[in-house]
Amino acid sequence: MTLFISPNFKDRIRRLETVFKYLKCLGKGNGRSLTLGLKQFTENKDLSVWKSSKIPVSTFTSTSVMSDPLTMKERYVAAMVLSGVGDALGYKNGSWEFCHSGEEIHKELKELGGLDNIKVKGKKWIVSDDTVMHLATAEAIMEYEESKKGTDSEDKEKLYNTIAEHYKKCCHDMRDRAPGATCMSSCYKLKPGVPKGYQISFNERGGGCGAAMRSMCIGLMYPTQQCRSDLIAVSVESGRMTHHHPTGFLGSLAGALFTSFAIEGKPTIEWGKGLMDTLPLVKEYIENSGHEVQDNLDNWEYFEKRWREYLKEREVENGTSQPVFPEKYGVPERDKFYKSLSYAGWGGSSGHDAPMIAYDAILGSGTDWKELCSRSMFHSGDSDSTGVMAACWYGAMFGYHKSVPQCNYQDVEYRGRLERAATFFYEKNEKRLKTETDSSQSQASSS
Ligand SMILES: [Mg+2]
Repeated sequence: MTLFISPNFKDRIRRLETVFKYLKCLGKGNGRSLTLGLKQFTENKDLSVWKSSKIPVSTFTSTSVMSDPLTMKERYVAAMVLSGVGDALGYKNGSWEFCHSGEEIHKELKELGGLDNIKVKGKKWIVSDDTVMHLATAEAIMEYEESKKGTDSEDKEKLYNTIAEHYKKCCHDMRDRAPGATCMSSCYKLKPGVPKGYQISFNERGGGCGAAMRSMCIGLMYPTQQCRSDLIAVSVESGRMTHHHPTGFLGSLAGALFTSFAIEGKPTIEWGKGLMDTLPLVKEYIENSGHEVQDNLDNWEYFEKRWREYLKEREVENGTSQPVFPEKYGVPERDKFYKSLSYAGWGGSSGHDAPMIAYDAILGSGTDWKELCSRSMFHSGDSDSTGVMAACWYGAMFGYHKSVPQCNYQDVEYRGRLERAATFFYEKNEKRLKTETDSSQSQASSS
């Protein structure tokens, strides 16, 4: 369903009332949360959304995303390409990734003429290790799927060995891309081709964000509830090839899961609860895997605890209410908050807080690309890793929305490879996505 909004003010108010009634009909929360949601929506800086000729109700609901004029293929492509953009913008050849002040980054951004003036292109805006490793994950899955030659038989050991091979190979493309020490040293230990050579030992210090930043494409390959067990297995095993610690590989799970939620059209307020509901299944997977189980269980609690605290703070722990943000939540306040989420003072550098900051940005930005960049890419902390995820989820929901300047993405490094991977994952899932959409729509119309 698509609701048309006229630029006329009176008409706009009338339409707002309609949206309110529509939301109320859906029973998505109580009156207070709906009012907060509308307040937040109307205060959205992207007023162009209200001036536009139409606004899809899918911004609020899960059932209508698939029927948007935007095609699913466009969303797949934008998810991969914009992830590279989010990485390159957050990285800015290292000077923004390692800047300790969001205000300084915003000042520099203004001096550059703002996002409208930034051509993410060439040596000034290369992608960092995040995209190189994200592509390694994607291309390994593609190689494995192609090797199956159309059969349905699964050989996960072969898939994991292929991923390990690509992770080792991509280490040769890290010049000027600031790879993480844990990723590099772990890749060195991988021995693809040797039985279980894709596994490394448990690592007390393996809680960094290096596994999270490269997992989103797993959600594009396994995008629906029906393939959730594959998503869990592949995100955990690829994650712990370098980050064998729950805080690290659960970040990989979150990155993949939220991408699949974005593709499914699950309302963003439900994602956090969806993650919490999935964790017991992941724990079960770890227990059944038999690989250094006790170490993993002993260190399980931190990721879940920090996420529950965060969801409670935003009042989205039940997945039914609109998020509540502090009244004053500008650049310095966000820097302070992101730091408070972190493990050791560097917001976004761990497996728990990289997807958390990206999610916070998604919750607070709606369709507004510039706001998303401000929150997820232009902050003190690990801004390329939070940017790579937030931008991917944005693309998976909204495609190349009109608020995204073309110069931000048209020449991004590795665009061709990112598009090829996206197209491959879309084509692999085209039938499944259509079948599951048709079935959910027929259930909705019969209820
Ligand atoms: Mg990086």
